[in-house]
Amino acid sequence: MSEHVETPSSPRIWVFIEQEEGKPHPVSWELLGAAQRLATELPGSVVEGVLLGHDVAGIVPLAYRYGARRVYLIDAPLLEVYRNLPYGVGVSNLVTKYQPEIFLVGATTLGRDLAGTIATRVRTGLTADCTELAIDPKQKILAATRPTFGGNLMATILCRKHRPQMATVRPRVLPMPEPLPEADGELLREPLDLNESDMPVRRLRLIPGKEKLNIEYADIIVAGGRGVGGPKGFTLLGELADALGGVVGASRPVIDAGWLGHDHQVGQTGKTVRPKLYIAAGISGAVQHVVGMNGTDFILAINTDPHAPIFQIANAGIVGDLYDVIPELIRQVKGASNGQ
Ligand SMILES: Cc1cc2nc3c(=O)[nH]c(=O)nc-3n(C[C@H](O)[C@H](O)[C@H](O)COP(=O)(O)OP(=O)(O)OC[C@H]3O[C@@H](n4cnc5c(N)ncnc54)[C@H](O)[C@@H]3O)c2cc1C
Repeated sequence: MSEHVETPSSPRIWVFIEQEEGKPHPVSWELLGAAQRLATELPGSVVEGVLLGHDVAGIVPLAYRYGARRVYLIDAPLLEVYRNLPYGVGVSNLVTKYQPEIFLVGATTLGRDLAGTIATRVRTGLTADCTELAIDPKQKILAATRPTFGGNLMATILCRKHRPQMATVRPRVLPMPEPLPEADGELLREPLDLNESDMPVRRLRLIPGKEKLNIEYADIIVAGGRGVGGPKGFTLLGELADALGGVVGASRPVIDAGWLGHDHQVGQTGKTVRPKLYIAAGISGAVQHVVGMNGTDFILAINTDPHAPIFQIANAGIVGDLYDVIPELIRQVKGASNGQ
């Protein structure tokens, strides 16, 4: 949080606190951590959260603990489930009223939809899918960095003439800050001047889908690439993941070939992950894959090619055929858990 004294003209750094069914999305806390780092570079600035939903005030104290000094809350039955119109109108009205300098939103399905709407409504720029946020030391404005040209170049984008300066960041790209259990803040409740009859979309009923794979927040990932050779090989990887209490990840060719669903894809056009252990089997280590997993604590690479680039970032490597190595790993992990 900024150490400077707040004044009425203090620049506001806003974070959208995303929630679904009353459950806050952890990317909100990652963004509050980033907002606090930005605040130290912007004299007098203040970090604030924006929360919309129905009966969601219970989330507010958490936002204080992760660094929000103030939370703007619009709590209305109309906002029970995410719909673009009421969320877009609600947040845009807050932006117009309070004029934040910077506005950060998670690059989740909901956040991507909302951020574009807000930027359009308030006529400002939006840098999507940033990997780094900083304050430009000379101009004292947001310097939002994101990959470009297929991930081979990084572009830093400044929004000089319009406010707020908006950016989205994917879950897990930024580190999770430590919460401050004693932290407190100010709650401002704001109205929403809309009725159900104004809504072009209504939820008639909820048809639960299959449970979403939460690969971004998994501690252990066993990932396979083109070297796995086909969908059957992923049953083997799944067996190792189960034995370790982890989940299965994959490189893009696996998803393109239809061997696994897109939820499993790690990398620039997939998910960003930060597990404690990432086992990369039959993955060469292309830059577009590595950007999605290089925040891992410990990478174990298994590859038949000793010159595969993945070995350059791996903490440990096994040169060998994954069809020899993985069954042996399964045997050893199962043996270890049986106390052998
Ligand atoms: C705009 C853009 C976005 C992209 N986004 C992504 C993304 O999000 N995620 C992503 O992963 N890629 C992405 N890519 C693709 C990326 O450039 C690579 O093509 C891809 O990551 C390669 O996948 P791979 O390592 O599985 O396959 P390969 O590069 O073909 O590597 C296969 C590896 O398996 C090894 N191997 C083969 N058989 C065995 C065996 N039996 N045992 C052990 N090792 C074996 C080989 O030695 C080789 O190193 C993107 C590309 C572009 C242009």
